[in-house]
Amino acid sequence: MIGANSMFWHEEIETLNRAELEALQLNRLRETVRRLERVPFYRAKFRASRLKPEDLKTADDIRRLPFTTAADLRANYPNALLAVGRDEVLRLHTSSGTTGKPKALFFSRRDIDTAAELIARAFCMTGVTRRDVFQNMMSYGLFTGGLMMHYGAEKVGCMVIPSGPGTSERQLLLMQDFGTTVVHVTPSYAFYFADFLEKKGIDPRKSLTLRKAFVGAEPYTEETRSKIEAALGIEVYNSYGLTEMNGPGVAFECEGKCGMHVWEDNFVLEVIDPATGEPVSDGQTGELVLTSVNREAMPLLRYRTRDLTSIIAGPCACGRTHRRIHRISGRSDDMLIVRGVNIYPQQIERVLMSMPQIGRNYVIQLEGLDEMTVRVELSPSGFDGEVEHLAQLQNLVAEKLRAELFVRPKVDLVASGSLPVAEGKAKRVIDKRSM
Ligand code: ADP
Ligand code: ZN
Repeated sequence: MIGANSMFWHEEIETLNRAELEALQLNRLRETVRRLERVPFYRAKFRASRLKPEDLKTADDIRRLPFTTAADLRANYPNALLAVGRDEVLRLHTSSGTTGKPKALFFSRRDIDTAAELIARAFCMTGVTRRDVFQNMMSYGLFTGGLMMHYGAEKVGCMVIPSGPGTSERQLLLMQDFGTTVVHVTPSYAFYFADFLEKKGIDPRKSLTLRKAFVGAEPYTEETRSKIEAALGIEVYNSYGLTEMNGPGVAFECEGKCGMHVWEDNFVLEVIDPATGEPVSDGQTGELVLTSVNREAMPLLRYRTRDLTSIIAGPCACGRTHRRIHRISGRSDDMLIVRGVNIYPQQIERVLMSMPQIGRNYVIQLEGLDEMTVRVELSPSGFDGEVEHLAQLQNLVAEKLRAELFVRPKVDLVASGSLPVAEGKAKRVIDKRSM
């Protein structure tokens, strides 16, 4: 059943039982391995381990397949991992990365359609219908958050406003004039926009029709979700994806907002100990590893996402059987080592967002020999106390951070709106250490 007003986009697939789902995965996995025999990089690995598609007999056999890493994608740039003829490629996306060559990902016509389908499922499970007006505030272009989400929303039948990141004035105008009900936005921009409305004296509950936001592309905490929901008067759903696996629509929250369902008919999900490569148990945090089993142009086997999460065991109240993962707590390569202590930026964010006097934008600066400064904006309602109160608040923040991190950073409270805002993903850490 494919219907724009039902709770499910594709009920039959979304509620397959475990055995059916695993059988489907296994079939698709064999087909994918067969397809990848055409790709020299994978063919060499299959030969080395004498692996044939028919050898894959149970769900666990995925562990016989090699991992693929971001470095492999870069080494095979621009098109050595392409599994179809050039004529079958309809679209290129790249994943920015920070240094060196980008990762190039190709899509066939069917790949694009499937990606849109998975996003349509996700929209549907959060109650979005064709009557919604969807404003996509993510960058269009090589980044999948623009075009892919756009195609998904069109599949649902929403009216799509491809605003891109644009200025806040323009976003607001579009929202007011065309009755936007759903947005797709990064957490950092959602905050920025909430501040912008507050400064203009606009109450989104009264003068906007917004009801939902899909928030993703960068890690954020539960505290951040609550703050965005309160500031904009909306429901925020966590949306996870990566270019290597289509872009957005890999894992998405349902209305229960209790972890993200991974579309397991398309992606085989593993969570491993990044050091040993062995699976961790449900509930344990590890590195998310994904295999795209329903891709034509460029399937990837056991892709090491470097994103940290855990599998949530047990059924979901919504009736979907595809397993859920916890929100991404960071990337394994995000970890900072400061004075010998392991610190994730999300720990800092959690503390900052739990304090009402503190605003929404922050940056972590490391310099010299392990000096850490957390520069954070005050809440937009401003700080009306005396300077000595500011010093007290600074001290309080530093103490709370010390209790969480076991390292006491220097805290620098700055005026609301004074830190730079990125058009795309926020850059939270500036490491200028001389080591
Ligand atoms: P890049 O790798 O250049 O950042 P992508 O657009 O492919 O480009 O980004 C995918 C990455 O973004 C994911 O691997 C993950 O680290 C992050 N990400 C995407 N969605 C979320 C989310 N909802 N929560 C946390 N991190 C996310
Ligand atoms: Zn659910």
